[in-house]
Amino acid sequence: MTAQIIDGKAFAAGLREKVGELAARFEAAAGRKAGLAVVLVGDDPASQVYVASKAKQTVACGMNSFEHRLPADTAQDDLEALVDQLNADPAVDGILVQLPLPKGLDEQAVVARISPDKDVDGLTPTSTGRLALGLPGLVPCTPLGSLMLLKDQLGDLSGMDAVVIGRSILVGKPMAQLLLGENCTVTIAHSRTRDLPEVVRGADIVVAAVGRAEMVKPEWLKPGAIVIDVGINRLDPEPGKEKGRLVGDVDFAGASEVVKAITPVPGGVGPMTIAVLLRNTLVAAHRNEGLSDPEGL
Ligand code: NDP
Repeated sequence: MTAQIIDGKAFAAGLREKVGELAARFEAAAGRKAGLAVVLVGDDPASQVYVASKAKQTVACGMNSFEHRLPADTAQDDLEALVDQLNADPAVDGILVQLPLPKGLDEQAVVARISPDKDVDGLTPTSTGRLALGLPGLVPCTPLGSLMLLKDQLGDLSGMDAVVIGRSILVGKPMAQLLLGENCTVTIAHSRTRDLPEVVRGADIVVAAVGRAEMVKPEWLKPGAIVIDVGINRLDPEPGKEKGRLVGDVDFAGASEVVKAITPVPGGVGPMTIAVLLRNTLVAAHRNEGLSDPEGL
């Protein structure tokens, strides 16, 4: 069997287009643009690239982007004061504090300070609680994007056996909650799981969010399964090359011979993350203005 390659890049482009159309409608209804504030503390090069990309795509969708860059030695109080100011600013619908924060800053305290109504990363205790309770709220972008790809492939996920490998707050746990919400039978595997290959073998849906290059082997996978590979790992460079290749947590070439469909790395889940961030910002904007949620997002 040669698997279908799930084109996250194309899906994300479609989602951004839809967000753009609905953002224009929002602007007409609310008399202002939706706005996303991104806070970057320090000068981590990878974070700078992400923040620049988020800002560019926010503007391209017809929303306002407010960037706040603070030095690495920013005090906890000053950072929390900025979050308070953004919470109170009616032009800001979504607040994203780029993680990780420099050493010495209390990440959890900063995130918890974000108003749940502006928590477009879905990481505050309130957002996490709403997801667990099945209440409307804002859901972390990468798992929500992964779910969108799954639903696009499968339609109804009800009754399917799903295994999520990884239990982080950012990906694994919310992914499991979302799949449970879709009536999957969900297993969460992690570094202490006793027989991971055996656990994975039972799954109709496998979501790998580990951070270990090509860890999931083809012989672990059930023929016909659907695989969502969240992992982003850079291999050591080949001789003569400056940078190593990016690969996921799944042995893509081998898995493609076994499963029904699989996301590639890059070009699978990765592009979905920012597209869902824009979607979450627009949804937050509607709720903040007392409008009903935009349809089709
Ligand atoms: P974390 O490091 O926070 O979590 C990794 C999880 O994998 C942990 O729960 C850990 O278990 C588990 N794990 C580690 N080793 C094993 C093992 N040998 N067998 C089974 N489970 C194991 O990572 P994140 O969740 O933040 O990210 C996971 C991957 O996804 C990374 O590659 C990251 O780069 C990528 N990512 C991609 C995004 C995108 O936009 N596409 C966005 C976010 C992340 P334990 O809890 O027991 O330690």
